[in-house]
Amino acid sequence: MPDRPYNPMTIENAVELGLTGVILYCRKCHRERTVSFDVLALLQETPVLAIAPARRFVCSGCGGRSVASPPDWTAYKAPAAGGMSRR
Ligand SMILES: [Zn+2]
Repeated sequence: MPDRPYNPMTIENAVELGLTGVILYCRKCHRERTVSFDVLALLQETPVLAIAPARRFVCSGCGGRSVASPPDWTAYKAPAAGGMSRR
């Protein structure tokens, strides 16, 4: 598969990397919480950054609608450094 630099990461891509959800982040008051993909029940091809607009999240702290949904990297399983080891 060609690696296009501007291809947005989708939920499917994120799950392949071991991620389990996104962080909902309020740009106004900087509140954040994590939400899992299971709870969101969105299509696998949904871009991760489009999750907040798609679900119309509103901040529970300030009521702001400027909510971002960056991937939650805490569950990321970094691939083992292949090909770099010397025997
Ligand atoms: Zn807020």
